[in-house]
Amino acid sequence: TDRIISPDAAQGEAFDRALRPQTLSEFVGQSQAKGNLKVFIDAARGRAEALDHVLLFGPPGLGKTTLAQIVSRELGVGFRATSGPILAKAGDLAAILTNLEPRDVLFIDEIHRLSPQVEEILYPAMEDHVLDLIIGEGPSARSVRIDLAPFTLVGATTRAGLLATPLRDRFGIPLRLEFYTPEELTAVVRGTARKMGAAIDEAGAFEIASRARGTPRIAGRLLRRVRDFASAEGAEVINRLVAARALARLEVDEAGLDSLDRRFLKALIENYGGGPVGMDTLAAAIAEARDAVEDVIEPYLLQQGFIMRTPRGRMACAKAYAHLGLSEPPKNPN
Ligand code: ADP
Repeated sequence: TDRIISPDAAQGEAFDRALRPQTLSEFVGQSQAKGNLKVFIDAARGRAEALDHVLLFGPPGLGKTTLAQIVSRELGVGFRATSGPILAKAGDLAAILTNLEPRDVLFIDEIHRLSPQVEEILYPAMEDHVLDLIIGEGPSARSVRIDLAPFTLVGATTRAGLLATPLRDRFGIPLRLEFYTPEELTAVVRGTARKMGAAIDEAGAFEIASRARGTPRIAGRLLRRVRDFASAEGAEVINRLVAARALARLEVDEAGLDSLDRRFLKALIENYGGGPVGMDTLAAAIAEARDAVEDVIEPYLLQQGFIMRTPRGRMACAKAYAHLGLSEPPKNPN
């Protein structure tokens, strides 16, 4: 999607690599995940062992890739990154695994999208640091076992439930990343602005942060666009007014919702009486793929209490009616 509030990385956003936090202490928020990681990293480093495998799960844009890189830096080991959809054949993963140095971090993004053949060679690699390969074909085929360097797999996925249980069970350190508070995102925005050399005050940063859907990637993107508007109007500092004006032109409202979110809520309320209605029906009503709706629209609306999930489908909450300026239907006494 090309939504400005999409939590997925857009093309050309790789340049922000220099803006990424480099250390655990520079990484804002996620205190629970960070605190646990610090203990395990210190222990692994103290024993000069590979860190146990880490599973990072949570909506896109919350810092999974960034954290994986930080883990390798804090461990003082190498970092290799790939992703589930890229690893098409078992040989692709085998090539990467055999090239790892002892204790290296291998990051696999979208690990729920590994093919079964690739998953199969990943299990013994994770568990016993061995690679079982079949050489040749037909009757002359034989299997060879190759020892691997002990390594740390850091897997990332949007929802832990997407992983096959045997894969999920092989991660000793599962960590859930949470949406950030506006205060935490204010710190992210100020930090990023400092690195970009953009002048912004606290209220300006808060204005951006409070519309960034709890997501650092969105906060960074909004900051870059707001900065463009600020220079276009010759503003020297991004203050609350400058930020609010720019965000209005970007059609990102006070709650951080864009037209697609509002369309989703409107469909739920106006077409289906506020629900309950099934996700397939709703996705079809706004002509979006069910997966996209579940990954990028629903989590934030749920977390913010605009909608709720019931066994019979999604329902609009009072907050959704209020946000759209619609009146709630009278409560059914049953
Ligand atoms: P994910 O892998 O979960 O999709 P990324 O690690 O790619 O997310 O992070 C997205 C963007 O947000 C990056 O530009 C990163 O620098 C920034 N970011 C993420 N988490 C933080 C954080 N805690 N503090 C500062 N910047 C962050």
